[in-house]
Amino acid sequence: MPAEFPDFRLGSVLATSFTATLTERQGDRVERIPTPQRLIDWLAVSGLAVESCSTAQLELARELREAIHAAATAAANREALPASAVRVINDRSIHGRAAAVLTPEGNRRWRLSSASRVADALGVIAADAISIIAGERDGKLALCASPTCRAAFFDTSQSRTRKWCDMNTCGNRQKKARFNANQRKKTKD
Ligand SMILES: [Zn+2]
Repeated sequence: MPAEFPDFRLGSVLATSFTATLTERQGDRVERIPTPQRLIDWLAVSGLAVESCSTAQLELARELREAIHAAATAAANREALPASAVRVINDRSIHGRAAAVLTPEGNRRWRLSSASRVADALGVIAADAISIIAGERDGKLALCASPTCRAAFFDTSQSRTRKWCDMNTCGNRQKKARFNANQRKKTKD
């Protein structure tokens, strides 16, 4: 894996892990799937391994990603879902033909068809997004409190009061900023 590409931000929810392949959306954007190969890598670590990916398929993936981000943001803000985003999510969901299969150990795996594995993978991601936006799953869509991030994430904490999309990045940075501000105040006093 070439070192010049940024790492993935993987969470426990497929759809929002996918939208987190573009971070710092309100600041200096970081594209974490800049090439078809990086999308292949991301799909592999997300349980959706594909053999190949074209530039056109990468474009479709990014279009789906932005549609999920737009719809999830609207849902988190309790606003009407953008029609164009809903259309993209539905199109990708309809075109996917992945099948859920049960392993002998009792885990769910996705079996992608051989002809259109990227389309199948995108279908799985779209369906995951539908289930969280539709409010079917236990959790709440929220927006990251970091002003340069504002990523939509799925809060499954018991109190539903999670503030950051990722504790290790946005959460930590916020804590450090607060700490530094306090230090500055102390030295002034
Ligand atoms: Zn964030």
